[in-house]
Amino acid sequence: PPPGSPDIDIARAASMRPIVALADDRLGVPAEALIPFGHYKAKLSLDYIASKAEAPKGKLVLVTAVTPTPAGEGKTTTSVGLNDGLNRIGLNSMVCLREPSLGPCFGMKGGAAGGGRAQVIPMEDINLHFNGDFHAITSAHSLLAAIIDNHLQWGNEQDIDPRRIVWRRVVDMNDRALRNINVGLGGVAHGIPRETGFDITVASEIMAILCLATDLADLQRRLGDIIVARRHDKSPVTARDIEADGAMAVLLKDALQPNLVQSIEHNPAFIHGGPFANIAHGCNSVMATKAALSLCDVVVTEAGFGADLGAEKFLDIKCRQSGLRPDAVVLVATVRALKMQGGVAKKDLGDSSPEAVERGVANLRRHIENLQKFGVTPIVALNHFVLDSDEEIAVVQQVCDELGARCTVAKHWAEGGVGAEELAQAVKDQLDQGTPEINLLYPDDAPLKTKVETVAREIYRAAHVDFSSAASRSLDEFSKLGYGHLPVCIAKTQYSFSTNPKSTGAPEGHTLEVREARLSAGAGFVVIVCGDIMTMPGLPKRPAALDIGLDGNGDIVGLA
Ligand code: ADP
Ligand code: MG
Repeated sequence: PPPGSPDIDIARAASMRPIVALADDRLGVPAEALIPFGHYKAKLSLDYIASKAEAPKGKLVLVTAVTPTPAGEGKTTTSVGLNDGLNRIGLNSMVCLREPSLGPCFGMKGGAAGGGRAQVIPMEDINLHFNGDFHAITSAHSLLAAIIDNHLQWGNEQDIDPRRIVWRRVVDMNDRALRNINVGLGGVAHGIPRETGFDITVASEIMAILCLATDLADLQRRLGDIIVARRHDKSPVTARDIEADGAMAVLLKDALQPNLVQSIEHNPAFIHGGPFANIAHGCNSVMATKAALSLCDVVVTEAGFGADLGAEKFLDIKCRQSGLRPDAVVLVATVRALKMQGGVAKKDLGDSSPEAVERGVANLRRHIENLQKFGVTPIVALNHFVLDSDEEIAVVQQVCDELGARCTVAKHWAEGGVGAEELAQAVKDQLDQGTPEINLLYPDDAPLKTKVETVAREIYRAAHVDFSSAASRSLDEFSKLGYGHLPVCIAKTQYSFSTNPKSTGAPEGHTLEVREARLSAGAGFVVIVCGDIMTMPGLPKRPAALDIGLDGNGDIVGLA
């Protein structure tokens, strides 16, 4: 297909290698360690992963980005392209990504398997149902919900207060009509009536748990730690208290195995787990990242949203819990996004405007400085779009020079791995220089409020944090219950450093208003809710689903 063809056409035209052969000759993984799903997808067995625990470890490269805009930044595309580029320049590298959710696929975001000539395939399978992991999570989540309502029905031995059940239900669909529902209607035989609702599967705490668990035992322990409700005396009731953890672990046993696929250029990729990046940490699984590090010299991984949210959570949650540390960080920027940060409307992005880039580049500068606070200067990957002008690119390059960050123009979307060779070389040079000393932003033993204030001050550049009285009460209570050592996971708009999505560029001196705090005791973090956070998206007026269908050959059409 010519450059600029729809992602699905490029993906479908690509040849694929049988996954068993690819695993053998690229990763040294024997066939018996794989659980193949057809010819081109496989899970990697947990026993094999455990057998590699003492193997030498590769270097970890985090891909993050400037503040997202509707123009699209291309973190996944750049992660895939960089991995192809690293392999082209002779490194043995693989990429670890999140699994896409069905909801956005049928809504408006489209797929999430990269784009252009930098994609992972089979694209349709990855975007739809992929090896059943999300179904397993939905089932485990539903099982716990059913056990809670059944516990109420049969005498409520734990003295659960039905008004204080926090465990909702999930489905992997954008379905706003399910946000608030009543259950247990119809009389005595049909349960205890109460109000509840649905979230999308990726917002389930089980998704975050699957992504942070280090083995099956840790998975089951975390499932048991989930707090589902409060008793009438307000003490917490866990999934373990109502004996749900064992059966849930059984449903998730296979889903904990990372999924192996390949890029268009036949380089290996794990695609595993996909937690929300607001009420959860937004990274692929620790299982996949650690397994990849034991199989390859370099591992590229993506964190959701911009670096203020994605990289901060990658470091302060995923790295803190797992002991992982990045050896290099790539910060993806686009001229288009920076122009929008500089106030240009989406419809005017086609016109060259170095002045707008000059204004918007404040956003890039802020992200670079923030990452430097963690102890690492990022390599800036300018993800090239066809209409970018040389004058606009020069503005970005100059800011990077000022801050000592290497900047490379990457053309993997149009050209595949060859277009990312310069970026790959920059990453290799950085890795050759040795590992940076990464500082997490706050110590475990800082009070929860101090943790929030530290992120707000250092990363969001807020002048002030305003905790609602409900949030303050919850945080005090979580500390009293023994959860004060957990990291915080701040849920706020991804479109600004502040809580106002319209405040672009590099705002400072604002107030972070904390509305609510929630405990994800199984995942191991405290969610700090700032503003309205949607955990069940709706569909737009004309959802992508209306244009998706099968052609005369039974092939899928319309999947973005
Ligand atoms: P993110 O991971 O940051 O959400 P993706 O990598 O999924 O972004 O990319 C979002 C969309 O932008 C995809 O449809 C992809 O094809 C498109 N895209 C990415 N990079 C480019 C580029 N350089 N030129 C044109 N389209 C691009
Ligand atoms: Mg992405």
